[in-house]
Amino acid sequence: MGCFGLTEPDFGSNPAGMLTYFDEDGDHILLNGAKMWISNAPFADIALVWAKDPEGKVRGVIVERGMEGFSTPETKGKWSLRASATGELVLDNVRIPKTNLLPEARGLKVPLSCLSSARYGIAWGAIGAAMDCYDTALRYAKERVQFGRPIAGFQLIQKKLAEMVTDITKAQLLNWRLGVLRNADKATAEQISMAKRNACETATRIAREARQILGAMGISGEYPIMRHMMNLESVITYEGTHEVHLLITGMDITGLNAFS
Ligand SMILES: Cc1cc2nc3c(=O)[nH]c(=O)nc-3n(C[C@H](O)[C@H](O)[C@H](O)COP(=O)(O)OP(=O)(O)OC[C@H]3O[C@@H](n4cnc5c(N)ncnc54)[C@H](O)[C@@H]3O)c2cc1C
Repeated sequence: MGCFGLTEPDFGSNPAGMLTYFDEDGDHILLNGAKMWISNAPFADIALVWAKDPEGKVRGVIVERGMEGFSTPETKGKWSLRASATGELVLDNVRIPKTNLLPEARGLKVPLSCLSSARYGIAWGAIGAAMDCYDTALRYAKERVQFGRPIAGFQLIQKKLAEMVTDITKAQLLNWRLGVLRNADKATAEQISMAKRNACETATRIAREARQILGAMGISGEYPIMRHMMNLESVITYEGTHEVHLLITGMDITGLNAFS
Protein backbone atom coordinates (compact mmCIF):
# COMPACT_ATOMS: atom_id res chain seq x y z
CA MET A 1 0.00 0.00 0.00
CA GLY A 2 1.20 3.48 -0.81
CA CYS A 3 0.33 7.02 0.22
CA PHE A 4 0.80 10.46 -1.33
CA GLY A 5 2.40 13.11 0.86
CA LEU A 6 1.99 16.68 -0.36
CA THR A 7 0.08 18.59 2.37
CA GLU A 8 2.06 19.97 5.31
CA PRO A 9 0.92 21.39 8.66
CA ASP A 10 1.47 24.97 7.41
CA PHE A 11 0.98 24.49 3.67
CA GLY A 12 -2.29 23.00 2.39
CA SER A 13 -3.82 25.09 -0.41
CA ASN A 14 -0.37 26.56 -1.09
CA PRO A 15 1.92 23.52 -1.47
CA ALA A 16 4.58 25.65 -3.21
CA GLY A 17 5.59 26.89 0.24
CA MET A 18 6.41 23.39 1.49
CA LEU A 19 9.21 23.15 4.05
CA THR A 20 10.09 19.45 3.62
CA TYR A 21 13.54 19.29 2.00
CA PHE A 22 16.53 17.05 1.46
CA ASP A 23 20.30 17.41 1.38
CA GLU A 24 22.62 15.19 -0.63
CA ASP A 25 24.85 12.71 1.17
CA GLY A 26 26.92 10.80 -1.43
CA ASP A 27 24.65 8.26 -3.10
CA HIS A 28 21.96 9.00 -0.47
CA ILE A 29 19.76 11.92 0.52
CA LEU A 30 18.85 13.10 4.03
CA LEU A 31 15.13 13.97 4.18
CA ASN A 32 13.60 16.28 6.81
CA GLY A 33 10.11 17.66 7.33
CA ALA A 34 6.52 16.66 8.06
CA LYS A 35 3.39 15.93 6.08
CA MET A 36 -0.12 16.02 7.50
CA TRP A 37 -3.58 14.73 6.56
CA ILE A 38 -2.14 11.90 4.49
CA SER A 39 -4.62 9.14 3.52
CA ASN A 40 -3.37 5.61 4.31
CA ALA A 41 -0.24 6.95 6.05
CA PRO A 42 -0.66 4.73 9.14
CA PHE A 43 -0.63 1.50 7.06
CA ALA A 44 1.30 2.41 3.92
CA ASP A 45 4.37 0.34 3.03
CA ILE A 46 5.75 3.22 0.99
CA ALA A 47 5.11 6.95 0.96
CA LEU A 48 5.59 9.15 -2.06
CA VAL A 49 6.84 12.34 -0.39
CA TRP A 50 7.16 15.65 -2.24
CA ALA A 51 10.16 17.61 -1.00
CA LYS A 52 12.52 20.37 -2.13
CA ASP A 53 16.00 19.50 -3.37
CA PRO A 54 19.04 21.66 -2.45
CA GLU A 55 18.16 24.01 -5.36
CA GLY A 56 14.59 24.39 -4.06
CA LYS A 57 13.01 22.30 -6.84
CA VAL A 58 10.15 19.96 -5.84
CA ARG A 59 11.06 16.27 -6.25
CA GLY A 60 9.25 13.00 -5.50
CA VAL A 61 10.95 10.62 -3.04
CA ILE A 62 9.85 7.10 -2.15
CA VAL A 63 10.18 6.59 1.60
CA GLU A 64 9.90 3.01 2.83
CA ARG A 65 8.39 1.88 6.11
CA GLY A 66 11.14 0.85 8.49
CA MET A 67 13.63 3.51 7.38
CA GLU A 68 15.23 5.08 10.45
CA GLY A 69 13.72 8.44 11.37
CA PHE A 70 10.43 7.78 9.49
CA SER A 71 7.17 7.47 11.47
CA THR A 72 3.47 7.74 10.60
CA PRO A 73 1.30 8.69 13.62
CA GLU A 74 -2.44 8.29 13.01
CA THR A 75 -4.74 11.33 13.07
CA LYS A 76 -7.52 10.53 15.55
CA GLY A 77 -10.96 12.08 16.13
CA LYS A 78 -12.08 12.42 12.50
CA TRP A 79 -15.84 12.76 11.96
CA SER A 80 -15.55 12.29 8.20
CA LEU A 81 -14.12 9.49 6.03
CA ARG A 82 -13.82 7.40 9.17
CA ALA A 83 -13.27 4.19 7.19
CA SER A 84 -10.07 5.65 5.76
CA ALA A 85 -7.02 5.94 8.02
CA THR A 86 -5.32 9.33 7.93
CA GLY A 87 -1.97 10.25 9.42
CA GLU A 88 1.21 12.28 9.44
CA LEU A 89 4.53 11.51 7.79
CA VAL A 90 7.31 12.51 10.17
CA LEU A 91 10.71 12.67 8.48
CA ASP A 92 13.60 13.13 10.85
CA ASN A 93 16.88 13.01 8.92
CA VAL A 94 15.79 9.90 6.99
CA ARG A 95 18.72 8.48 4.94
CA ILE A 96 17.37 7.31 1.59
CA PRO A 97 19.20 5.94 -1.48
CA LYS A 98 19.14 8.34 -4.44
CA THR A 99 17.60 5.53 -6.50
CA ASN A 100 14.37 6.25 -4.55
CA LEU A 101 14.08 9.70 -6.19
CA LEU A 102 11.60 9.77 -9.10
CA PRO A 103 14.05 10.54 -11.92
CA GLU A 104 11.75 12.52 -14.20
CA ALA A 105 9.55 14.26 -11.63
CA ARG A 106 10.85 17.80 -11.24
CA GLY A 107 8.72 20.76 -10.18
CA LEU A 108 5.35 21.21 -8.50
CA LYS A 109 3.48 20.58 -11.75
CA VAL A 110 4.22 16.84 -11.36
CA PRO A 111 2.28 16.25 -8.10
CA LEU A 112 -0.38 18.69 -9.34
CA SER A 113 -0.83 16.61 -12.51
CA CYS A 114 -1.47 13.51 -10.32
CA LEU A 115 -4.18 15.56 -8.61
CA SER A 116 -5.91 16.21 -11.94
CA SER A 117 -6.59 12.48 -12.32
CA ALA A 118 -7.76 12.15 -8.73
CA ARG A 119 -10.04 15.18 -9.08
CA TYR A 120 -11.67 13.74 -12.17
CA GLY A 121 -12.42 10.55 -10.20
CA ILE A 122 -13.81 12.60 -7.31
CA ALA A 123 -16.17 14.42 -9.68
CA TRP A 124 -17.83 11.06 -10.43
CA GLY A 125 -17.56 9.75 -6.86
CA ALA A 126 -19.33 12.77 -5.37
CA ILE A 127 -22.17 12.38 -7.85
CA GLY A 128 -22.38 8.69 -6.88
CA ALA A 129 -22.95 9.79 -3.28
CA ALA A 130 -25.60 12.26 -4.47
CA MET A 131 -27.37 9.51 -6.46
CA ASP A 132 -27.47 7.26 -3.40
CA CYS A 133 -28.96 10.10 -1.32
CA TYR A 134 -31.53 10.86 -4.03
CA ASP A 135 -32.52 7.18 -4.47
CA THR A 136 -32.86 6.74 -0.71
CA ALA A 137 -34.96 9.89 -0.35
CA LEU A 138 -37.21 8.98 -3.30
CA ARG A 139 -37.87 5.47 -1.95
CA TYR A 140 -38.51 6.77 1.54
CA ALA A 141 -40.84 9.56 0.35
CA LYS A 142 -42.98 7.05 -1.56
CA GLU A 143 -43.31 4.81 1.51
CA ARG A 144 -43.58 7.33 4.33
CA VAL A 145 -47.20 8.30 5.01
CA GLN A 146 -48.14 11.57 6.78
CA PHE A 147 -51.49 13.34 6.75
CA GLY A 148 -52.95 10.21 5.16
CA ARG A 149 -50.77 10.00 2.06
CA PRO A 150 -47.18 9.34 0.99
CA ILE A 151 -45.06 12.45 1.54
CA ALA A 152 -43.85 12.07 -2.08
CA GLY A 153 -47.30 13.39 -3.05
CA PHE A 154 -46.69 16.79 -1.44
CA GLN A 155 -45.49 19.55 -3.74
CA LEU A 156 -42.69 20.70 -1.41
CA ILE A 157 -41.19 17.19 -1.36
CA GLN A 158 -41.56 16.86 -5.14
CA LYS A 159 -39.73 20.17 -5.56
CA LYS A 160 -36.78 18.81 -3.62
CA LEU A 161 -36.76 15.51 -5.55
CA ALA A 162 -37.23 17.15 -8.94
CA GLU A 163 -34.40 19.62 -8.29
CA MET A 164 -32.13 16.82 -7.05
CA VAL A 165 -32.56 14.72 -10.16
CA THR A 166 -32.11 17.78 -12.36
CA ASP A 167 -28.87 18.77 -10.59
CA ILE A 168 -27.56 15.18 -10.71
CA THR A 169 -28.26 15.03 -14.44
CA LYS A 170 -26.48 18.35 -15.07
CA ALA A 171 -23.43 17.24 -13.08
CA GLN A 172 -23.36 13.87 -14.86
CA LEU A 173 -23.45 15.62 -18.22
CA LEU A 174 -20.59 17.93 -17.24
CA ASN A 175 -18.55 14.92 -16.05
CA TRP A 176 -19.41 12.90 -19.14
CA ARG A 177 -18.32 15.75 -21.42
CA LEU A 178 -15.07 16.00 -19.46
CA GLY A 179 -14.57 12.25 -19.88
CA VAL A 180 -14.99 12.60 -23.65
CA LEU A 181 -12.40 15.40 -23.67
CA ARG A 182 -10.03 13.32 -21.50
CA ASN A 183 -10.32 10.36 -23.84
CA ALA A 184 -9.25 12.70 -26.64
CA ASP A 185 -6.44 14.04 -24.39
CA LYS A 186 -8.01 17.50 -24.52
CA ALA A 187 -9.30 18.06 -20.96
CA THR A 188 -7.57 20.94 -19.17
CA ALA A 189 -6.78 21.07 -15.45
CA GLU A 190 -9.13 24.07 -15.24
CA GLN A 191 -12.03 22.08 -16.68
CA ILE A 192 -11.34 19.30 -14.17
CA SER A 193 -11.42 21.88 -11.36
CA MET A 194 -14.82 23.05 -12.53
CA ALA A 195 -16.22 19.51 -12.53
CA LYS A 196 -14.75 18.59 -9.14
CA ARG A 197 -16.08 21.74 -7.52
CA ASN A 198 -19.49 21.44 -9.13
CA ALA A 199 -19.90 17.77 -8.20
CA CYS A 200 -18.91 18.31 -4.55
CA GLU A 201 -21.13 21.34 -4.15
CA THR A 202 -24.08 19.62 -5.84
CA ALA A 203 -23.66 16.45 -3.79
CA THR A 204 -23.36 18.35 -0.50
CA ARG A 205 -26.59 20.23 -1.21
CA ILE A 206 -28.44 17.08 -2.34
CA ALA A 207 -27.29 15.11 0.72
CA ARG A 208 -28.67 17.82 2.97
CA GLU A 209 -32.03 17.95 1.17
CA ALA A 210 -32.26 14.15 1.19
CA ARG A 211 -31.56 14.04 4.90
CA GLN A 212 -34.39 16.50 5.42
CA ILE A 213 -36.86 14.34 3.46
CA LEU A 214 -36.19 11.46 5.84
CA GLY A 215 -37.03 13.61 8.88
CA ALA A 216 -35.54 12.14 12.05
CA MET A 217 -34.65 8.94 10.21
CA GLY A 218 -32.27 11.05 8.14
CA ILE A 219 -29.80 11.23 10.99
CA SER A 220 -29.89 7.48 11.59
CA GLY A 221 -27.09 5.15 10.55
CA GLU A 222 -29.80 2.83 9.18
CA TYR A 223 -29.74 5.01 6.08
CA PRO A 224 -26.61 6.11 4.20
CA ILE A 225 -27.35 9.84 4.01
CA MET A 226 -25.62 11.12 7.14
CA ARG A 227 -22.52 9.08 6.26
CA HIS A 228 -22.44 10.65 2.80
CA MET A 229 -22.97 14.13 4.29
CA MET A 230 -20.04 13.71 6.66
CA ASN A 231 -17.76 12.18 4.02
CA LEU A 232 -18.57 14.92 1.52
CA GLU A 233 -17.21 17.45 4.02
CA SER A 234 -13.76 15.94 3.38
CA VAL A 235 -14.30 15.53 -0.33
CA ILE A 236 -15.17 19.22 -0.72
CA THR A 237 -11.86 20.08 1.00
CA TYR A 238 -9.29 17.57 -0.22
CA GLU A 239 -7.75 17.55 -3.68
CA GLY A 240 -8.19 21.34 -3.67
CA THR A 241 -10.81 23.17 -1.66
CA HIS A 242 -14.07 24.61 -2.94
CA GLU A 243 -12.52 28.10 -2.86
CA VAL A 244 -9.29 27.08 -4.59
CA HIS A 245 -11.18 25.50 -7.51
CA LEU A 246 -13.29 28.61 -7.87
CA LEU A 247 -10.12 30.71 -8.05
CA ILE A 248 -8.73 28.36 -10.71
CA THR A 249 -11.84 28.89 -12.82
CA GLY A 250 -11.66 32.65 -12.12
CA MET A 251 -8.05 32.80 -13.27
CA ASP A 252 -8.88 30.72 -16.35
CA ILE A 253 -11.63 33.07 -17.53
CA THR A 254 -10.09 36.41 -16.53
CA GLY A 255 -6.38 35.69 -16.88
CA LEU A 256 -5.91 37.33 -13.47
CA ASN A 257 -4.50 35.53 -10.41
CA ALA A 258 -6.64 36.13 -7.30
CA PHE A 259 -4.81 33.57 -5.12
CA SER A 260 -2.32 35.88 -3.50
C1 LIG B 1 -9.67 13.13 5.00
C2 LIG B 1 -8.57 13.86 4.29
C3 LIG B 1 -7.63 13.15 3.54
C4 LIG B 1 -6.57 13.82 2.91
N1 LIG B 1 -5.63 13.09 2.22
C5 LIG B 1 -4.52 13.72 1.71
C6 LIG B 1 -3.47 12.95 1.08
O1 LIG B 1 -3.56 11.72 0.93
N2 LIG B 1 -2.36 13.61 0.66
C7 LIG B 1 -2.21 14.97 0.80
O2 LIG B 1 -1.17 15.48 0.40
N3 LIG B 1 -3.20 15.72 1.39
C8 LIG B 1 -4.34 15.13 1.85
N4 LIG B 1 -5.35 15.87 2.45
C9 LIG B 1 -5.14 17.31 2.65
C10 LIG B 1 -5.97 18.20 1.75
O3 LIG B 1 -5.53 18.11 0.41
C11 LIG B 1 -5.91 19.62 2.32
O4 LIG B 1 -6.67 19.60 3.52
C12 LIG B 1 -6.42 20.68 1.39
O5 LIG B 1 -5.52 20.87 0.30
C13 LIG B 1 -6.62 22.04 2.08
O6 LIG B 1 -5.51 22.39 2.84
P1 LIG B 1 -5.72 22.84 4.38
O7 LIG B 1 -6.57 21.84 5.07
O8 LIG B 1 -4.35 23.11 4.94
O9 LIG B 1 -6.55 24.18 4.31
P2 LIG B 1 -5.98 25.66 4.11
O10 LIG B 1 -5.14 25.71 2.88
O11 LIG B 1 -5.39 26.14 5.38
O12 LIG B 1 -7.33 26.45 3.81
C14 LIG B 1 -8.21 26.87 4.86
C15 LIG B 1 -9.36 27.63 4.21
O13 LIG B 1 -8.84 28.80 3.56
C16 LIG B 1 -9.25 28.82 2.21
N5 LIG B 1 -8.21 29.45 1.38
C17 LIG B 1 -6.91 29.11 1.27
N6 LIG B 1 -6.28 29.92 0.41
C18 LIG B 1 -7.22 30.78 -0.07
C19 LIG B 1 -7.21 31.86 -1.01
N7 LIG B 1 -6.11 32.21 -1.69
N8 LIG B 1 -8.37 32.53 -1.23
C20 LIG B 1 -9.52 32.17 -0.60
N9 LIG B 1 -9.60 31.16 0.30
C21 LIG B 1 -8.46 30.48 0.57
C22 LIG B 1 -9.46 27.35 1.84
O14 LIG B 1 -10.31 27.21 0.72
C23 LIG B 1 -10.08 26.82 3.13
O15 LIG B 1 -11.45 27.13 3.15
C24 LIG B 1 -6.45 15.23 3.03
C25 LIG B 1 -7.43 15.94 3.76
C26 LIG B 1 -8.48 15.28 4.37
C27 LIG B 1 -9.50 16.06 5.15
